[in-house]
Amino acid sequence: MYFTSVQERKISLNIHGTVELEREFGIARLRLMLGDITEQSCDAIVNAANPSLMGGGGVDGAIHRKGGPVVLRECIKIRSSIYKDGLPVGEAVVTTAGALKAKYIIHTVGPVWRGGGHGEAQLLSKAYVSSLTLATRLGVRSLAFPSISTGAYGYPVEEASKVALGTVSRFLKTTPGTLKDVIFILYKMTDFEAYAKTLAGL
Ligand code: ADP
Repeated sequence: MYFTSVQERKISLNIHGTVELEREFGIARLRLMLGDITEQSCDAIVNAANPSLMGGGGVDGAIHRKGGPVVLRECIKIRSSIYKDGLPVGEAVVTTAGALKAKYIIHTVGPVWRGGGHGEAQLLSKAYVSSLTLATRLGVRSLAFPSISTGAYGYPVEEASKVALGTVSRFLKTTPGTLKDVIFILYKMTDFEAYAKTLAGL
């Protein structure tokens, strides 16, 4: 393993050449990884969905494409039963992960960035807490998050990383449960760097 010191923390390049950074919070590990969330073999992955739950672009599109039609079928069932008007921002629901390696997909909706003065931080934090709470209820041990809201929804990544990592680390420290490994899968190096800087400061 090769180590290089970046922003006062250790970033490791593992044998697969994957860039990773990690911290311990209570009995759980919080990791950052550069990669594609659809390739993760953890118990559950989180989808940055939109209220329709009908799929879309970005990470949502990639998850539906690789998960297959069973994911959409379960989303349609959720829409026609509990969330007829769509999944509200900050809430989370679960479906099978279909053909993906994970067992579950937890779909949550982050806020659209409207300048920061419209409760965006509280809503983004709520999306993480709802996902973590649902994962705990399902007995999930390993959970992967994308960077919710920082793509099409336009949330600035530095701000989003503070909400995301602050919320998850607080949850892990204060909420006993099944979670042992929470991984943020960052798709772009610039996003990884923003999250790494925030994690180093926690
Ligand atoms: P939102 O609508 O919540 O902004 P997006 O899917 O547009 O959701 O973007 C959220 C984040 O997911 C962005 O940082 C984007 O780069 C990232 N992303 C896109 N595809 C993937 C993927 N396959 N794995 C992990 N992250 C991804």
